[in-house]
Amino acid sequence: MTTAKDWNVLVPEKNRLVTPNKNERKSSAGLPTHIVIHVTGTNNLSSVTKTFLDDHSVSAHYLVTKEGVLYQFAPDGYRAWHAGIDSGARSLYNQGAQHWMKYLKFFKWYKGYPKDAVYVDVDLNPVWDETEAAFVRRADGQIWSEYDYFVNRWPGENQPVNFAQDPDPNNYSIGIETLGFGAKSADPAVYTDAMYQSLAQLVSDLSKKYEIPMEKGRVVGHEDVNPIGRFGWDPAPGFDWSTVRKS
Ligand SMILES: [Zn+2]
Repeated sequence: MTTAKDWNVLVPEKNRLVTPNKNERKSSAGLPTHIVIHVTGTNNLSSVTKTFLDDHSVSAHYLVTKEGVLYQFAPDGYRAWHAGIDSGARSLYNQGAQHWMKYLKFFKWYKGYPKDAVYVDVDLNPVWDETEAAFVRRADGQIWSEYDYFVNRWPGENQPVNFAQDPDPNNYSIGIETLGFGAKSADPAVYTDAMYQSLAQLVSDLSKKYEIPMEKGRVVGHEDVNPIGRFGWDPAPGFDWSTVRKS
């Protein structure tokens, strides 16, 4: 009998690569209850693989390429490091949507912050050197329109998906990366049919094994469990949820 600590038979043996970036799931956490879909933010498979195999880095359980080829980096029974939430973002979430939606995580590479944006540290104090910022807020202090997707998808929710149950998505989820940059609208060159087919097969397999319903709220995006860190671009609006959910 196979267990959650075995490799998935859907993944070719040569594509089972052992990440050091994982640990035991807490025994109290039991089996995974959610599936978190990601986008890698690059088309470079070898750079993603290298990151996942480097020490002191991150990981996901699975990766699916545009050709529909599956990779696995940790068996489902382990806790992969794909959707951690830092303490600064956690404390923002704890204060409710009217507060956390005023902040976006600061990324050195992100070009979308407006010119007059205010760069702040984890204590929300403005920083002189923006490269030292933790978060970015609007000059007028209002909430970011970047969170429109979240409000539309999760009306009335004050916190990220499942945050109130467990503030660390790595504890309760299986992480699946899709290789690519994501897209604002459906784009068959970004989210290929081959990718969707393999992904659907994998999600259906995990759904059966762990009794995770293929439905909204259980099969989610990184942007749903950590919106401050992934404000609508992971896996992005162009991702077709109907391929991995029945409802
Ligand atoms: Zn992600």
